[in-house]
Amino acid sequence: MTKYDGFGYDSDREIYSAARVRALESLLIEKGVISGETVNKVLNYFETEMGPFNGAKIVAKAWSDPEFKAKLLEDCNAAISDIGLPIGMSGAEGEHMKVVENTAQVHNIVICTLCSCYPWPTLGLPPYWFKDPTFRARAAREPRAVLQEFGVELPEDVTISLWDSSAQIRWFVLPARPEGTEGMSEAELAKLVTPEAMMGVALVSA
Ligand code: FE
Repeated sequence: MTKYDGFGYDSDREIYSAARVRALESLLIEKGVISGETVNKVLNYFETEMGPFNGAKIVAKAWSDPEFKAKLLEDCNAAISDIGLPIGMSGAEGEHMKVVENTAQVHNIVICTLCSCYPWPTLGLPPYWFKDPTFRARAAREPRAVLQEFGVELPEDVTISLWDSSAQIRWFVLPARPEGTEGMSEAELAKLVTPEAMMGVALVSA
């Protein structure tokens, strides 16, 4: 996942957080709350079973199948329940997922103003910057400027819509299908889709 460091933090900020996480993990293991194996199992699960590759498959299918797309926008969890994704797509952090579509008129961005709510089964674990208080505040206050820092320049007449993920609803974006992809298979299309595009901070290019 792309590391975003356009907010001008000290370079040791992430190292500091990582050290705190390691300290917390050792304490939890020492107190017998979790084992080292538990942590590895969870991390492995979100690297191999639940991750942005699921979201990419969903997006590619929506680009290729209008009926699926309509169902996806209406009821994400129902639409993805029978397309061969891993069991548990409606489990941890994916109980109520909703999809918003980027069009020529509207560009959507997903944030969590309160903390870091994110659709884990479709996008994996949230990147560092998504949880960052400055990103969360600035994306809400000046989304166009933040998008520019991510390298996304939108025409002035495109409206930016912000979606605030919460414990109740976790949003993700159906990006616009790039031009020049006619005739591509779903598998080929899925390779173009990045987690950033499904969060609305990048566009998909062919
Ligand atoms: Fe949250």
